[in-house]
Amino acid sequence: MKAELLYEGKAKKVYRSASNSEQLILSYKNDATAFNGKKKASFTGKGRLNNEISSLIFPYLHERGIRTHFLERLNDTEQLVWATEIIPLEVVVRNVATGSITKRLGFKERTPFEPALVELFYKNDALDDPLINDDHALLLTDSTAKELRELKVMALEINTVLRELFQSINLALVDFKLEFGRLPDGSIVLSDEISPDTCRLWDMVTEEKMDKDVFRQDIGDLISVYEQILQRLEARL
Ligand code: UDP
Repeated sequence: MKAELLYEGKAKKVYRSASNSEQLILSYKNDATAFNGKKKASFTGKGRLNNEISSLIFPYLHERGIRTHFLERLNDTEQLVWATEIIPLEVVVRNVATGSITKRLGFKERTPFEPALVELFYKNDALDDPLINDDHALLLTDSTAKELRELKVMALEINTVLRELFQSINLALVDFKLEFGRLPDGSIVLSDEISPDTCRLWDMVTEEKMDKDVFRQDIGDLISVYEQILQRLEARL
């Protein structure tokens, strides 16, 4: 049961749970945005697909020792999570160069990063989520140096687990974005979502893009691509 709406973002609404004030209900929307909200559209079924995909991935990570906010999927478009204080950072992990890093730093498209590269962005729409370094993060968030190290270690562990999972369903995990939050006891857990909205996934056979780049670049049918990801995950898990 939902209580009050706490926050509405680009892809989800966040409600306080009526039965436990320490828990939230994430409600996935059909809206898609790209380029920091400059491109917008709505796709019937996207909310359900991302909710289902994220609800398969979070327990999979939990079983492999990654602490997350996830509790359970409630219905087609909603999931129950622990309330956390979100750390305003987007932690991006890259296995292959594409997207913003090719434009920002001139890496040639498809350059492999071994070990994987971790980048921090400051979560701030008004500033267009700028790339920042650790010293900026210490000033802009109330994280400590130890917590930043912990975030990066967790991000790389998640990368190892997810790369293997996606590889087993013939998808290359190119890059992805994570968000972390603090539980009331101060511990840091993985929050937000992991879905084709927040990952780049390339089919290992056909090399097709199977993620939100389909929408960003107008190169296919987003719903059938997300449906394909869900079907492959369901067949594997
Ligand atoms: N990403 C995201 N939300 C953002 C920015 C990036 O989920 O606000 C994801 C994106 O889908 C990709 C990865 O983070 O998997 C790296 O994105 P990049 O920095 O290349 O940005 P983009 O090219 O999407 O602007």
